Formats: sequence, C-alpha cells, structure tokens
Amino acid sequence: MDSIEDVLWKFALKNAHDYGTAQANAVVGKALAELPEARNNMRETMALAQKIVAVVNTMKKEELEEKLAHYSFAEKKEERGGLKLPKAEKGNVVTRFPPEPSGYPHIGHAKAALLDYECARQYDGKFLLRFDDTNPEKEKQEYVDALKDGLTWLGISWDDETYVSDRMPELYGYAEQMIESRDAYVCTCSQEKIREGRSLGQGCDCRERAMAENLKLWKGLREGEGKEESGVLRFKGNMDDLNTVMRDPVLFRIIEKKHFRQGFKYRLWPLYDFEAPIIDSLEGVTHAMRTKEYELRDQLYFAILDSLKLREPELVEFSRLQIRNAPISKRLLLPLIAEGKVRGWDDPRLPTLTALRRRGILPAAIKQFVLSFGLGKAESEPTWEALLVENRKLLDPVSLRLFFVPSPVKLTVTGAPEKEAKLRRHPSDKSKGVRSVNTRGNFYISGSDAKALREGETFRLKDLYNVKIESKSAAGTGGSTNAVVSASYAGEQPLPEKKVQWVAAESALEANVLVPRDLLRDGEYDENSLLVDRGFVEAEAASLTTGTIVQFERYGFCKLDDKARLQFIFTNP
Ligand code: ATP
Ligand code: MG
Repeated sequence: MDSIEDVLWKFALKNAHDYGTAQANAVVGKALAELPEARNNMRETMALAQKIVAVVNTMKKEELEEKLAHYSFAEKKEERGGLKLPKAEKGNVVTRFPPEPSGYPHIGHAKAALLDYECARQYDGKFLLRFDDTNPEKEKQEYVDALKDGLTWLGISWDDETYVSDRMPELYGYAEQMIESRDAYVCTCSQEKIREGRSLGQGCDCRERAMAENLKLWKGLREGEGKEESGVLRFKGNMDDLNTVMRDPVLFRIIEKKHFRQGFKYRLWPLYDFEAPIIDSLEGVTHAMRTKEYELRDQLYFAILDSLKLREPELVEFSRLQIRNAPISKRLLLPLIAEGKVRGWDDPRLPTLTALRRRGILPAAIKQFVLSFGLGKAESEPTWEALLVENRKLLDPVSLRLFFVPSPVKLTVTGAPEKEAKLRRHPSDKSKGVRSVNTRGNFYISGSDAKALREGETFRLKDLYNVKIESKSAAGTGGSTNAVVSASYAGEQPLPEKKVQWVAAESALEANVLVPRDLLRDGEYDENSLLVDRGFVEAEAASLTTGTIVQFERYGFCKLDDKARLQFIFTNP
C-alpha cells in the first residue's frame, strides 16, 4: 500500500503536468479517493499537500514527466453495484435525499435519490425526501412538484416529506446556542472583505465582539427593524486552518424575498453547511449520503454537531455523475433555459428526467445505469451509450416495427403486380400479428438507400418482392422528394442479399423525427445539437397514440411526441 505522501506526490505531479500549476485542494481530493483513510488526518494531509505542491510547482515540464513515469495511474477498480453502508444494521437505517427546489431534477439527482432509496430498502430502513429550501431567491413550488414527479416516475416512494424552511425557529434556536457558546458571531464586514480574509487566513474585528453584543446584533438581523441592519452569522472556526472551509464560514445571510412556502416570514436564511448536519441529526438520519465534492466540508459538518452536542450521522460519499458533453447540473441548465437555447426543461437534448422521459428513456434503464456505479467514489465520465444499451434491451422485445424513410426518394417499379404486403409487427413475437399494406408499384425509399443503389442491381423491397434498378435520375442521388429511381419488377425468388425498407406512395404519411445529439461540444452549446429528419411513414402510424415507442426498422427506436403532426423523437439506435 502506498503512503499518503507517495499518493500526494503522484497527484501533485500529475496535476502540475496536466494544468500547468498544481492546486492543493485538487490534489488532496484525488489522493483521498485513492486512500480514504488519509481523511482521519485531514490537517496533516492538507499541510503535506501544500508543501509538495509548492515544490512541484517549481519543476520544469521535463522534470515532471521524468518523475511521473515512476507512478502508475491504473484506474482504481470501482466497487460497482456495491450498496453496502458502513455500520448499518437491518431495520435501523434512515437515509434522505435533500434536493434544493431550484430547478428540475436531472439524471445526477436520479443517481443520488436511487442510491439513498435503494440503500434504505436494502436494510429495511426509512427513506426521507427533504426539500432544502432556504434560499427564496432560487426556489419555486414548480420545482418541488417537478422533483416529486421525477422521483415518482423512477419508482421511488418516501416515508416522509419535509421542508427545511418549516424548521426555521428551531434553526434560529441552534444558532443562538452557538452564539452563546461562542462558536458563532455576527460579522458586519462586506462580502469582499470576508472573502479576502478567508483566503488570506486573517480574522476581522467582528470576531472579537462580546457574546452579548453578538446576540443583540443577531436579533437585529433576524427581525430587520429599520431594514438597515446587515451582516451575516459566521462559524468561529480557525482562520488559518489548512482546510479553507473551516475559516469562519458563513452560516446565515439575509435574503429579503418572498419564499414560496413561508412568504415574508423570515429574512435571515441558513446555509446548507449549517442546516444539513442539524436536520440530518434531528430527522434521525443514520447515513447521510452526498457527493464527493463535499468531502472537505465533512469537518465543518461534524464541528457544528459537536458544538450543539447533537447526534452524528455517518457520512457516506459517492461520485458525482457526469456524462460527456451533457450539462448535468442546475448551474449549467438554468442559463440554457433562460437564454432560450433549449425549448424548455423537457427539450429532448437535456439530461433532465422530464426530457429523458419525453424522449423514451425508461425509468428501469435509468435505474440500472445509475446504480451500476454503486457507492464507488471513483470518478468516471461515461457517455450516453451505456444508458442507451440498457434502454434498447427493454424496448426491443416490446416495440412494434414500422417502416420510415427519411429524406425520401420516389421509386417506381414497372411491371409490378398489385400486391398486399403482410408485414410482421414484431420480428420474433408472432403474437403481435401483421399489418397489411396495399402496393401498386409506387414507393418511397430512404435517400441513403437510394444513393447506394447501382443501375442494374437487383434488391428486395423488404417482405414484398424483388426489383431491378433501371435508372436513377440525377436528383435520385441527392435524396429529395423530387428524385426518382426507376426499376422493374424482378419476381419473388430468389432472395437477394440486399433488403430495403419502403413506404407505399399511395398511403404514405409525412412524418418527422427530432434527433437529439450531444448538447455541448467542448463545453459550449452546440447550435446543431437538434436535427430533424423528415420523411414518410406507413399509414399504420396514424393509429399510434402519443407516447408510444416504435422501432423504425433500420433507423431506430422513436417515440411519438405529437400525434397531430406525426412528430417523433429519436429515442435509441
Ligand atoms: P446542481 O449542480 O444540479 O445544482 P446540487 O448538488 O446543487 O446540484 P441539489 O438539488 O442540492 O443539487 O442536490 C440534491 C442531491 O443530489 C445532493 O445530495 C447532490 O449531491 C446530488 N446530486 C446533484 N447532482 C448530482 C450528480 N451529477 N451526480 C450525483 N448526485 C448528484
Ligand atoms: Mg445546489
């Protein structure tokens, strides 16, 4: 086993090599993922990291490379699928999912919520849904409803639903208790001054104020008489702590806005760092799960509980789900919505649950996908592929088949008999029956199929008969509706290798498919991320109901999004 020192060296070198200069926080984060026991000694770990980083940052690139060559970066094996909680007993586990109702839930929330829920179930425990609603500026009832809808859709049910804002009087009480025990003080410095002090590791005069004075100021902040009172409540930590989180973080701040649930009842609102440990403790949470980026905040979590002599839950960390080129964070999603770059929260390019649902991704596939990462802390950045593979496994056995021809080209077959085609609704499930299509030698085929056909070639119109290409009009290579391919009837036998899907011209219906692609490209919004395929579909499509998922043969699974316009969304290859 490598020592923490080795591991810090390794990641400091890599960090400096990859980014020019190494950052101690980043290096410690990586090192902790590889050597979690180093967390028991955060102080020393941080100090050591800073020393090493300082040395590494003086090295030249060649030197970094030479030293890096001695370390291996084989990916640590993830404990995939593992849902084992530390110190857990059957019947005694309580977990919670604590979203802030400040946006619609995304697939990252699905990961967190399903881990919480499944862990609770595994130990016959309880699962709570807690709205972390203490920032009236960002939160709305609409988002509460969207979160509940999303969870229900995923098959999650909760034993209790709570709102942090319902416990404000208690939270104020705890804050006063901390002021009295001199673990918190009112700071009236400007935001910039507080930020600067924290980064330089220097305290301000407010720190030295007497307790009675703090209580008086606190009362003023709470009640806001005269409205001119300003200031924040800060935790009295350690201004030169190597973990910068501990440098007197802010616990309460003033936000004078109407709260969706509490109206104008409060003006002084707690921050997550203050409320999370307290509410976890009060609600009886035994295992508080959160994403790995909170790791440096663990020390504060326990310091607050320690100050208030409240029961300490176990903290369990897991990795944040990221998918390449997808904006899996409200911070990234909100501007896309606000700027109108997407057509709402359910735009099929988005990783929100409402968008995935609209697109035809099934809850069971999402569950399988997100739980496959288990409680592992190893970072990975999967693509959508793994999710789509799961989804296809579920769709394939049940989806009806239809022919759809995008960028259609007209095909006329001379000498063709009138024939009723009997097409199977499903290739292996005979119980789904057949559909009948009348044909009279006039068809549409897809532009790409037309392009690939050679004059003189014989191929089969799938499940109908063979035809031989006589000529292609110039336009026939381009793939527009005006293009024409002329062919002659070539009998039923033998079966040629090439088969092409078709739509009978007499009964063809115009349809279009929205095809979502990666929304981001190199981190930036890609304007061409939503394509539209236009073409013809068989008449049978008219009898589908909105929301049905079919497979357009040799094209992909698509969900009927708008029946009136026969608009589909591309679900899955
Ligand atoms: P966002 O960046 O989307 O605002 P957040 O962490 O601020 O994310 P919350 O609504 O506060 O969002 O999150 C509720 C829970 O969901 C938290 O425990 C958080 O760790 C978890 N969570 C959020 N995003 C992800 C993700 N991408 N992967 C895993 N868990 C996530
Ligand atoms: Mg948040």
